[in-house]
Amino acid sequence: MYGRADRIVGSIVDMAGVARAKVLPMSRLTSFVESGAGASPSWSVFCVDDHLAFTPSYSVVGDLRLRIDSDDVRNLGNGTYWAPACLSEQDGTPSPACTRGAVRRVAERLASSGLTARTGHEIEFTLFDAATVEEWAAYGLNAVLAQEEFLDVLLSAAATAELPVEQVHAEAGLNQFEVSLAPADPVRAADDAVLARALISRVARAQGFRASFSPMPVAGGAGNGAHQHVSFSDGGVPLLSGGPGPHGLTESGGAAVAGILRALPEFTAVLAGSALSHLRLRPGMWSGVYRCWGLENREAAVRLCADTAGNPHGANLEIKPVDPSANPYLSTAAILGAAHDGIVGALPLPDEVSVNPAELTGADAVDLLPTLPSDVLGALRVSSLAQDLFGPAILEALLAVKEYENSRYRDEPVDEVAQRFRYAWTS
Ligand code: GLU
Ligand code: MG
Repeated sequence: MYGRADRIVGSIVDMAGVARAKVLPMSRLTSFVESGAGASPSWSVFCVDDHLAFTPSYSVVGDLRLRIDSDDVRNLGNGTYWAPACLSEQDGTPSPACTRGAVRRVAERLASSGLTARTGHEIEFTLFDAATVEEWAAYGLNAVLAQEEFLDVLLSAAATAELPVEQVHAEAGLNQFEVSLAPADPVRAADDAVLARALISRVARAQGFRASFSPMPVAGGAGNGAHQHVSFSDGGVPLLSGGPGPHGLTESGGAAVAGILRALPEFTAVLAGSALSHLRLRPGMWSGVYRCWGLENREAAVRLCADTAGNPHGANLEIKPVDPSANPYLSTAAILGAAHDGIVGALPLPDEVSVNPAELTGADAVDLLPTLPSDVLGALRVSSLAQDLFGPAILEALLAVKEYENSRYRDEPVDEVAQRFRYAWTS
């Protein structure tokens, strides 16, 4: 039974990676499911600073509905319930601007080729106002014990909300933590990533901290990544293990790696496209800025985690360039669509890089992902794969938002921009 003040929050993620929400009394749950809550189409062109990057298709006129599914409702505690929302038109049909819908479409595309994907998200964040700076070591036991209460409340909230936390650790940066989530069906996994951020933000607040999900919370410090893990199977048979290729890759598994590597430049705007992202996307940051793959290579954009006893979920690819400014639905659609393209085209697996790519020079040198706005946005603008996967409605909004953000903030002093947007991606 719900209490009189219980409420249901439905949220979407916009092109800037910011979650935006409507709240209804729990007694109106059926209405949230069947009719939805109103939202201006301009929600799709909100930028990280709340500027509206209007385009010919996104203006002050029109109405969309945020609709939830009662099967997706999660209990956040204290009378607050949450569900991921889809954007639909007033007549109930799905809106082409719905990014969650883009993941569904790409999953169907995989299914039409007999393929299934599973994805999993890593959530890195930095706690501010945490009085632990004297008790901190990267991956430190001291760091996690000093935050015992925060972790206690967070894990209990995760259990209540059915968020599948796999592990938590102190990351390399001061007061930086990571929560890793279990793999799931791609829509559910992206929903989990949104939920995780909401729970972490909420528990941090309740404990007197603030959680930052900025790719670069303090200029010159450690970056927050949002690495995504992905695996594929064909009729239940895994593509990333048991094959004749390197480390057990099958031919299709190798083609998936090749497809992702091929598409990374055109999707950098989707995976790490904020005006701060380039500060993290650099060699030595373990952010996968090198456009290559390698077994357990933490500087490679695609890190192969092979099928070993130490890897109970089986072989998977970790896509490292993704940062928390990415809309997790769009990053998922981009990664899965690129892999599918590689598989369908039977792309050959490029050579593995099994050293730190920074050591390779001359003819062996590995390309870096683009980070200049003109290159990043230019590659997305001409991407036929992006058109195909996202559709013109999403692409128009996405480009307008990323173009505004980069032209407005990219040349401002980095410490000011980092400070200004430190909590922009906090829920
Ligand atoms: N914080 C790093 C990043 O920005 C990742 C460190 C790690 O490999 O977990 O991607
Ligand atoms: Mg990490």
